[in-house]
Amino acid sequence: MATRTQTRTGTCPSHGRVEATREVPKLQFPFIVFGVRRLVARGRPFHCPTCGAETDMH
Ligand SMILES: [Zn+2]
Repeated sequence: MATRTQTRTGTCPSHGRVEATREVPKLQFPFIVFGVRRLVARGRPFHCPTCGAETDMH
């Protein structure tokens, strides 16, 4: 599955402010499948690039 990496500033419990990342699907056919995958991806937390811990968003 084609993905791209989304980044956002988050707070890691171990590292403080980090550029947290998560994988989200690229736009692709069929759109209905893409829509479902994007909804799922939106619910996923961002992770610290160093330790992989979930980050808090502010
Ligand atoms: Zn970390």
